[in-house]
Amino acid sequence: MQSAHLREHNLSTVLAALAAASTSAAPISRAGLAKRTRLTKPTVSKLVEELVNASLVEEGEPISAGAGRPMVPLTPARGTLLAIGLEIAADHVACLGIDLAGEVLSHQIEYRKVTASSAEDAIDLAAELLGRVRAEAGDLPVVEVVVAVPGRIAPDDGRVLSAPNLDWTEVPLVGRLLAHPELAGLSVRAQNDNRLSVLTEIDHRPGESFIYLRGSTGIGGAVVLDGALMTGTHGWAGEFGHTVIEPGGATCRCGRQGCLEAYVSYHALRERAGLGDDVLIEDLVEALSLRSDRAEVIGMIGRSLGLAIANALNVLDLTTVVLSGYLAPIADELEPVIRETVEQHALAVEAGPVLIERSDGHADPALRGAARAALQPVFNAPGAWIGRTSPRSH
Ligand SMILES: [Zn+2]
Repeated sequence: MQSAHLREHNLSTVLAALAAASTSAAPISRAGLAKRTRLTKPTVSKLVEELVNASLVEEGEPISAGAGRPMVPLTPARGTLLAIGLEIAADHVACLGIDLAGEVLSHQIEYRKVTASSAEDAIDLAAELLGRVRAEAGDLPVVEVVVAVPGRIAPDDGRVLSAPNLDWTEVPLVGRLLAHPELAGLSVRAQNDNRLSVLTEIDHRPGESFIYLRGSTGIGGAVVLDGALMTGTHGWAGEFGHTVIEPGGATCRCGRQGCLEAYVSYHALRERAGLGDDVLIEDLVEALSLRSDRAEVIGMIGRSLGLAIANALNVLDLTTVVLSGYLAPIADELEPVIRETVEQHALAVEAGPVLIERSDGHADPALRGAARAALQPVFNAPGAWIGRTSPRSH
């Protein structure tokens, strides 16, 4: 029992080290893995052999390096397993299929308005897109399906408790998805879209501590401490969108008054600028920039964010803020306004500079993060996937 447990632990350590190395430019060999994992070379060789035979790891073309034996680069296997991310947002439904190496095997997106009355249609569309992704990826075995939703999710059964920006309350998301033949027998879970987006940012900033704010349907956020995502008691930590920046202020879609999202969110900005609901989230900044009061809009966004950020910095004692989603392209314009507000209210400025940075992560971080999260079961317990992969065709 003990040795089986140890083997599983070692397999997981080796596969995780390999995945981490594969995001850097330098290829890793068995010897490199031994150094990185602190396992002995014979142990690593045996584990790698098992993973290669199971089509979880693949060997590249040997690279000659001077007089010694050529090194054989190792990477997670391509095209042997499929991890699926789904995203439901106010203006689109999307599905992404990636393999263990993180390579995109299929991406499907359909733009349409998602509201309370179209909740069932949106879920049905998600299932349809998933069917297309599975077909395009060659019907590979599916690890897991993770759905990104801009709301709070019940951890037990995947109900969306509330998603104010979709007007959803008590929507049985996972249950309805599982009723579709495309998803029969699959493991499906739903997660907050911002918590998934930040996973792609953590990949770019390993080991760092920062506050993450993402402009999307709403204003989402996350707190990352030493490279680990803070979850909180209910898994909602980092819900910056509903922190109060003006008591008794504008009414938020959550029903409360003066939330950050009542001023800075897709819906709030669109309505304020008099833009129709046909404007896509990704086009919001451009649409705003066509307005004559652009400086005023940027000032309002910056001051609103600055208040929420200053309060958070005071509570958490952090110094780095990362702006993502539609906030990323306007980060340079927002920075001086946010900085001015933060300098008025945050204690951190007394200790040194506060860094306000632009996310350099993926263009659609929630969908990418969902697919990445759907790979996790393999990295947690590779042994369970031995014998379940599709043999590589090349
Ligand atoms: Zn609110």
